[in-house]
Amino acid sequence: MDVTDPDWLTTGWNHVWLPYAQMRTAPLPMPVVRTSGSEIQLADGRILIDGIASWWTACHGYNHPHIRAAVAAQLEAMPHVMFGGLAHEPAYRLAARLAGLLPDGLNRVFFTDSGSVAVEVAMKIAVQARLNRGARNRTKFVAFHGGYHGDTFATMAICDPEEGMHALFAGMLAEQVIAPLPRDAASRAAFDLIVEAHAGILAGIIVEPLVQGAGGMVFNDAATLRHLRATADHYGLTLIFDEIFTGFGRTGTMFAWQQAGVVPDIITLSKALTGGTSPLAATIVADALFDAFLSDNPGHALMHGPTFMANPLGCAAANASLDLFETEPRLAQAAAIEAALRTGLAPCRALPGVVDVRVMGAIGVVQLERIDDPAALRAAFIRQGVWVRPFRDIIYLTPALTIEPGRLSDLCQAVVNVVNSTTAIKTGTAPNS
Ligand SMILES: *Cc1c(COP(=O)(O)O)cnc(C)c1O
Repeated sequence: MDVTDPDWLTTGWNHVWLPYAQMRTAPLPMPVVRTSGSEIQLADGRILIDGIASWWTACHGYNHPHIRAAVAAQLEAMPHVMFGGLAHEPAYRLAARLAGLLPDGLNRVFFTDSGSVAVEVAMKIAVQARLNRGARNRTKFVAFHGGYHGDTFATMAICDPEEGMHALFAGMLAEQVIAPLPRDAASRAAFDLIVEAHAGILAGIIVEPLVQGAGGMVFNDAATLRHLRATADHYGLTLIFDEIFTGFGRTGTMFAWQQAGVVPDIITLSKALTGGTSPLAATIVADALFDAFLSDNPGHALMHGPTFMANPLGCAAANASLDLFETEPRLAQAAAIEAALRTGLAPCRALPGVVDVRVMGAIGVVQLERIDDPAALRAAFIRQGVWVRPFRDIIYLTPALTIEPGRLSDLCQAVVNVVNSTTAIKTGTAPNS
């Protein structure tokens, strides 16, 4: 505790439970009082440049006036109303707009309030579509090593086995079919064998197209995704693209499926959907799957409906966010960020302990041999005046697409400085800055 810490922090600290944290040793989080653009203002007056857009959500920067105005107007008219039996304009407009942006034939939008639940709904739809058509045993999914799809039990089961703690929760998690992502001849052969062996019990394949985000920012490509599409077609499986991280310009195109030229049967969206304003998620489904729910049998309906489904504030924010993609040059900004990240992070390649430097769209990754003390690295970034959160073996930047070029080069310089001092300490040479 610090004398400058606000009283709510010291009082509440004994009562909050932090995400992904060992609470015995977790450092006190830094109190934030304001956010604006790419800036996070701390209670003691310091400003941090945000390098990760609050877990990849704030694609237009914080507090964009157009989104703020739309949410304020919606708050005035109707902060919330239930979605069962009642309709409201923000959700109906948003559903039509999302369908317009997504591939032909993906027309049906189911709204939820978090990414994990959007993925669960996708899984439920893929399985129930088969049940409705009389296929009783096709309940399993192929998912991938290094994948991440959420923290709830159904989604943990389709995450990387180690990160998803499949052993710890054995008996509680559904057993799914985890395969290597088919990136080359060897992994493709292994994947093909696994799918063939399980084909009779499979409902679908789920993948993060182009980038496995929380699994370590590992890239994949169009050839991989084409192979998944061909496999899904061959065995009659539903192909789910989890675009919760990749959606809304992050990889350089509005969505990853466009860049890959591969059309899935279901797309899940969340994270940047509201421009980082409030929780909202969507599962967008192909007509052919939706048709399996149209029936005289009441048991064939999709029985799902979160209490705050299609919250009008979230939908208003999402519509305003889509306005900004139409009226402001977000994809050009993503391209400029890509170029700046390539130049700005390149010096890391020469530093000891660096395994890889990779960039795709507005994602820049420096992979180290290992990170022994992530907390120390995070503290080093704070001293550099930036908000960057290394995890596993990577330091990464996913800034707001609106970040000013000067700020972006400050972020890159901070990464170079921190990598330099960290690896210099490890290898016993003096840091040269
Ligand atoms: C973050 C994320 C999720 C989970 O979203 P939550 O809103 O945290 O539940 C699922 N899939 C991917 C690809 C993600 O990046």
